[in-house]
Amino acid sequence: MTKLEQLKERLGVVTDLNGAASVLGWDQQTYMPPGGAAARAEQLATLGRLAHEALISEETGELLEGASTEVTGLPSDSDEMCLLRVVRRDFERARKVPATLVAEIARATSLGMEVWIRARAESSFTAFQPAFQRILDLQRQLAQCLGFEESPYDALLDQYEPGMKKSDLVRIFGELKAGLVPLVQWVAERLDRVDDSILHRKYPEASQWELGIEAAKAFGYDFQRGRQDKSVHPFTTSFSINDVRITTRVDEQFLPSALFGTLHECGHALYEQGISQTLERTPLASGASLGVHESQSRLWENLVGRSRGFWRFFLPQLQRTFPENLQSVAPESFYRAINRVEPSLIRVEADEVTYNLHILLRFELESRLVEGKLDLAALPEAWNAGMKALLGIVPSNDAQGVLQDVHWSNGLIGYFPTYALGNLISVQLFEKAQSEIPSLAARIESGDFQPLLGWLRQNVHQHGRKHLPSELVERATGTGLRASSYLRYLREKYSEIYG
Ligand code: ZN
Repeated sequence: MTKLEQLKERLGVVTDLNGAASVLGWDQQTYMPPGGAAARAEQLATLGRLAHEALISEETGELLEGASTEVTGLPSDSDEMCLLRVVRRDFERARKVPATLVAEIARATSLGMEVWIRARAESSFTAFQPAFQRILDLQRQLAQCLGFEESPYDALLDQYEPGMKKSDLVRIFGELKAGLVPLVQWVAERLDRVDDSILHRKYPEASQWELGIEAAKAFGYDFQRGRQDKSVHPFTTSFSINDVRITTRVDEQFLPSALFGTLHECGHALYEQGISQTLERTPLASGASLGVHESQSRLWENLVGRSRGFWRFFLPQLQRTFPENLQSVAPESFYRAINRVEPSLIRVEADEVTYNLHILLRFELESRLVEGKLDLAALPEAWNAGMKALLGIVPSNDAQGVLQDVHWSNGLIGYFPTYALGNLISVQLFEKAQSEIPSLAARIESGDFQPLLGWLRQNVHQHGRKHLPSELVERATGTGLRASSYLRYLREKYSEIYG
């Protein structure tokens, strides 16, 4: 066996362990009875430790060295060269972090989650502050271990968005903010122009479920290599390129919840199902970054799922399923209802226009916390001031403000920006696909999503984790990451709806 083959076998074992952990994680959030929680935590910790040890061992380092000499001369974007580049990066990062710090972070975040759940129920940031301080201190230690040139925030961000720096975000998000704030103010003066009451009628669960499945099938989600189940928080998980699962939740009193949730997760799943089979059982068989992943979910949820064209195809099906609610609704009224905008307090309920402002606020606050420029005690006040400046509204309590998201209690700092990056990338990709497929709009209206899926497969999905996110965007669109495309998309769409 060559060194490369031996390395691949070793990485296969790491991939198997991670895949098995994913199955346990999926079960935990779908079917596991509450009594299973303690044992499941042990099982996941054991698999995680074994995978980590297999990756960081001396033997992996030696195989990496040996394999590197075997592949000299291969093109830099070949599977082999990309594999070695990515694995070397993972290997070096993992070895920089002492096992004791990993264990302390695991303990502090599992405790932090419990404290956060109680603090949120009591709506008391003070109750969460000591646990959050501990988590923040550990994240700053982690940043020191990982290393950085400009800001400790870069080291944390890099875990989710490889190659991205805080200074890049400051530039891109600055442009985004300058365009969004006036747009949101403009819409806020015209809120009564769109009525979405038809979406708040009773929609029986079983029919909602079936419709979601129909839409996902139409998009191209392969149920021979996937399935949908229920969970409290919707998610997508992959055990293999050939077993990619999604979950959703159903609200009988609000139609968009399950349907758009399914379209969103379906977008994530199409990405994972579309990775080249040659990358199976390697660390390259996943998305390029969280931002690129979110671009796929947002593209199918919003750019397709909230477009007029899609509803020309899908509304008749919806009307047949819910005739008592929708028989007489005009397509235009339905389109406007699902695109209603309103500045609101809660990120996960935000519309396309206001959503990124929620992210900008979190990015600004967490980067200042990590850099030691903001004291934790002052966070709730800074949150409320930011909400006022960006969205013009202020939460009346911590539960609806600074305590609303689980991320910080889980040690996920540097994660929020990927949501906004996903939105920006989704429009850049979609515009490029439109320019290369002149009939795209007509095909979507007729319910044929194959041209779009094929373009995404070719330009994004098949590559898995081979390229850095910025390289992937550049290769696919010919331009770098920017805010202008997204702003133009929002202005065109919403000035028409609210104009
Ligand atoms: Zn998502």
